[in-house]
Order: sequence, then C-alpha cells, then structure tokens
Amino acid sequence: MPELNIPPAPAIDGARHLHSGKVRDLYELEAGPYAGELLMVASDRISAFDFVLDTTIPDKGEILTRMSLWWFEQLEDIVSHHVISTDVPEQVKGRAVVCRRLAMFPVECVARGYLTGSGLLDYQASAPHHAVCGVHLPAGLVDGSRLPEAIFTPATKAELGDHDENVSYQDVAHQIGDDAAAELRRLTLAVYHRADEIARGAGLILADTKLEFGVRRDDLGVNATVLADEVLTPDSSRFWSLADWAPGQSQPSYDKQIVRNWLLSPESGWDKASGAAPPPLPAEIVERTRARYVEAYERLTGHTF
Ligand code: ATP
Ligand code: MG
Repeated sequence: MPELNIPPAPAIDGARHLHSGKVRDLYELEAGPYAGELLMVASDRISAFDFVLDTTIPDKGEILTRMSLWWFEQLEDIVSHHVISTDVPEQVKGRAVVCRRLAMFPVECVARGYLTGSGLLDYQASAPHHAVCGVHLPAGLVDGSRLPEAIFTPATKAELGDHDENVSYQDVAHQIGDDAAAELRRLTLAVYHRADEIARGAGLILADTKLEFGVRRDDLGVNATVLADEVLTPDSSRFWSLADWAPGQSQPSYDKQIVRNWLLSPESGWDKASGAAPPPLPAEIVERTRARYVEAYERLTGHTF
C-alpha cells in the first residue's frame, strides 16, 4: 500500500473523528439536533499519482462541496440524497455537510460512457472478447472512445490507498441480492445520463463517474435507496472538454492536468518512478489549478463562485 501522507484531522467541537480519506474527513456529530448523524468535511487537499500532495488548493473543499450539493438537487427527481443540513460548525463552514448515516452498500457504483482508465485496461486484457466487468463491448475501441451506450461497471471498495477492484454485475447480485443490484444499476445509469446531458450543455463530457448508495428506513418503515458520499465532483468523476475530445490518446483531465503536467516536467525535479513523494507545488500551479476548479463549477452550475 502506498504512503498516503494524510494529515491528522482537525478537532471539531461536538464531533468525533471517524475516518479520513485522501481528501475528506468524516466525523460523527455528538450533540445537537443531528446527534448520531455524520459530518462530511471536504478539505483543500489534492491527490495526484496516488499521493496526497503537501500543497493544498485554496477553496477546493468549498468548490467541491457546492458542486456536490448542486448535483444532488439536479438529481432529486431520480433519487433522494443523504444531505440533511449545511448548517455546520464555523471552522468548516462552506465545505462540510451534515448527512444521514446510512447502511452503505459495499459497492462502488461506476457508470462509464467512454472507455478509459481501468475500463480500458480490462477491455484490452479481455481481448479478443472485449468486456469490462462482464459487459461485452465491440472490438476496435481505443482510449477515450465513446461507448455504444453507457455501462454499469461496479467495483469493490478497497482499503484506503489500494485500488478498487472491478467486478461483474453477477458478483454484485451475489453479494447484495438481485433486487438491490438491479436497483443500483438502474439508478447509477439514470444519474449518469442526467449528468452527462447537463455536462454536455456546459461544453463538458462526463466520461465516467463513481457513486455510492446506502439504505435508510423511511418514516413508513420502508427501506429506501439513497445517494450518498459526494457526487459528480472532479474527484469522483472524469470530466473532459467536449471541444478537445480526441479518442486514441489519453484525454487531459479537466481539473488535475495542470498539476500532473508540472509534476512530470523537468521543472519539478520529481522522478515518478522513484516512489518518492512529489515536491510542493509552486504558487503559479496552485493558482491555475484553483482557477480550473472555479471554472468547472461555474460552467456546470451557471453560478459565480
Ligand atoms: P478515498 O480518499 O480513496 O475516497 P475513502 O473512501 O476511504 O478514501 P472518503 O471517501 O473520504 O475516504 O470516505 C468517506 C466514507 O464515508 C466512505 O467510506 C463512504 O462510503 C462513507 N459514506 C459516505 N456517505 C455516507 C453515509 N451517508 N452514511 C454512511 N457512510 C457514508
Ligand atoms: Mg471514497
């Protein structure tokens, strides 16, 4: 497992720290109207090449939190979501949400409209059958190809720092039952289609996205599937520029390309193959990256940050 370099989560009054991922810190609220529910805090941390960088991107946590909230609203007629309040402690204002604690499905629900990343690797490794997560695909697709239709390619959640493992729909059905698996596939694809349509209107392609769902017993005692975690942020999704899309090569990532390019350039002095942690980012790279996140938010939502 790679060294992740996640800083200790700050103490928050009235909340107990539960877990820190590469970018977010999760707490349980101990008092107040939402005692027992979760406080999900988005930091300004950024990861690249599986490292959490020493340099943070100012406002990234707030931009991604706002983006996620905006998406939840756009999806409300498709699926309910876990956010119950944005009234959060002062020290994390704007970059945290209170969310209902759900029983999470142990599945990373991925939808892909384009072939790249682990989907491309699986596609190539399964030749001559050409399948991703058991979904058969036509021959001749390349990095960045648009798929004939969007596909559901679930993965199992890996331990922090490890990579998720792609699994077949059958594996998911075996683990959580046929009805739940069918529901997750249906909802994941419905969310993808809605989001891709919206992104396209903003000149972006949603190549793929990862969703997480949980279950909550509603007021009538019926179990409901609820969209959880963060949604459709650049951290959970691949957004590409529609105008620059050119299959047959890796597409520049809308948000992190500036950071990746600099780290791989001679200026950074970093040798990716060495296994050493990347150096801090220069102020100019930080500012350009921040501007990219702001731009993504403003293009998608039509709001000014
Ligand atoms: P990574 O940085 O690779 O994403 P990670 O998944 O361990 O690592 P986070 O994504 O920050 O780190 O962790 C958030 C955790 O909270 C996940 O395990 C997610 O499944 C869980 N989670 C999200 N929403 C809810 C919810 N409403 N109820 C319970 N758990 C939730
Ligand atoms: Mg996660």
